[in-house]
Amino acid sequence: MKMGVRNQFLSFAAAIGLLCCPVIASAAYEPIPAEKLKTDQFDIEYVEPKNPAHRPIYEMMKESRILEKFQAFLAPIRLPIRITLKLEGCDGVANATFWDDAIKVCYEYLEYVWNQTPKMTKRGLSPKDAMVGPLVDVFLHEAGHAVLEVLDIPFFGREEEAADYFATYLLLQFCKDDSRRLILGASFLSGREAMDDQGKAPELRLLADTHSLPAQRHFNRWCMAYGADQVLFADAISFGMLPKSRAKHCRYEYQTNEYAFKKLISPYIDEELKKKVMARKWFQFETPVAATMMDMPTETATVAPEDAPKAFRPFGDRTR
Ligand SMILES: [Zn+2]
Repeated sequence: MKMGVRNQFLSFAAAIGLLCCPVIASAAYEPIPAEKLKTDQFDIEYVEPKNPAHRPIYEMMKESRILEKFQAFLAPIRLPIRITLKLEGCDGVANATFWDDAIKVCYEYLEYVWNQTPKMTKRGLSPKDAMVGPLVDVFLHEAGHAVLEVLDIPFFGREEEAADYFATYLLLQFCKDDSRRLILGASFLSGREAMDDQGKAPELRLLADTHSLPAQRHFNRWCMAYGADQVLFADAISFGMLPKSRAKHCRYEYQTNEYAFKKLISPYIDEELKKKVMARKWFQFETPVAATMMDMPTETATVAPEDAPKAFRPFGDRTR
């Protein structure tokens, strides 16, 4: 989700008729001048929940200093404005947004994630561990919107997709074991959403949405992961997460996104601060997990019935 300065301008421009003219002001893309940019541009705010049911989530997030961690993780990005990272109740709507220079994740969304994640240790992730991936993913997705909008980064396609790839690329920059847990955790959620949709024809309004369908977002993440490391994420193939026809393109898909990140985003990242961020241990997972499924103990490597490959093999290998 998002609606930032660029979209607000486009809505305004459309309203006054600026966009009906085919004449396009085609200035070459220019990065924002260095003197307008600063590191450490993130503020944080834990907003007291209005719904008493959200108080345990609020307390848990405050205690884990989650916003302070994102603030430190994002500090190396040089931005022209300050952005607030916020946890807040959203009157019953489970959502996350970048709006009015604030990245907001609703308590309702965290509650939704908790309800969707496995309630027993699964593939090496405890229930608490399984929350970490979706939580980091949603903040990085919204940070992707923020970075694209605030730095006026060019991109093809839908911004939602660009924000997804931004988030997944960053999930894959942590050390191998952490990347593995983050991708798996995020996949538990998206896999469940994808499976819930199985057997139903998607509504036209969902096909027309700014977001891809849950199953597409799920497979896009697996493709990026497999493209980044075909050993660490070998189970993308062995457990039937990806059809072979997609898997063969995943290395290229990862590399094109890596190229875009390095070309367009890296110039805005302070290298000294980045080294400190990369050297820090960010996560304390409860359960150990081996780098690949092949190395995992047999009992935890077993695919649970709800994960059965049938859910991930309905597509076969298509030629188009
Ligand atoms: Zn979004």
